[in-house]
Amino acid sequence: MKPALLLNASYEPLTIVSWKKAITLMWLGKAEVLSSQERHVHAATESFALPSVLRLIGRVRVPRHRVHFSRLNVYRRDAFRCQYCGDKFTGPDLTFDHVLPRSRGGETIWTNIVTSCQPCNRRKCSRTPAEARMPLLSHPQEPRWWPFSSGSGQVDNHPDDWKPYLWT
Ligand SMILES: [Zn+2]
Repeated sequence: MKPALLLNASYEPLTIVSWKKAITLMWLGKAEVLSSQERHVHAATESFALPSVLRLIGRVRVPRHRVHFSRLNVYRRDAFRCQYCGDKFTGPDLTFDHVLPRSRGGETIWTNIVTSCQPCNRRKCSRTPAEARMPLLSHPQEPRWWPFSSGSGQVDNHPDDWKPYLWT
């Protein structure tokens, strides 16, 4: 029994709910099902697919969440991919890189930190990407909040049908 992703009426991801909570929201008419799991449950007279993605009918106001700045969340934002060579690594082989080097006043903030593998980090040294002729794969930005950033959820393991709602 897998949990479901709950979206606000505006389609922004709100949280992850248990399958029981998902069914309750559906039965009460508080949420519509956008995507279902293959697994079915049997109620008294009927059988229906468990919800995988639900959207609330009425919009709820939520305070704007910010993604906590941490090494792991930087790796998550960059999908564990070195932003210089583009290769994918696991955590221990990765490091932070200051795009504008610290020695030149570069800050440790979302927009100046990218995921880098150790060799690329050493090669870039205290130069800018332009000086090192190592163009970035993408421009670092503060990520939007997503339901995994604050918990211990496995960011790489979420169901495929959640992705369109998480990464827009
Ligand atoms: Zn690299």
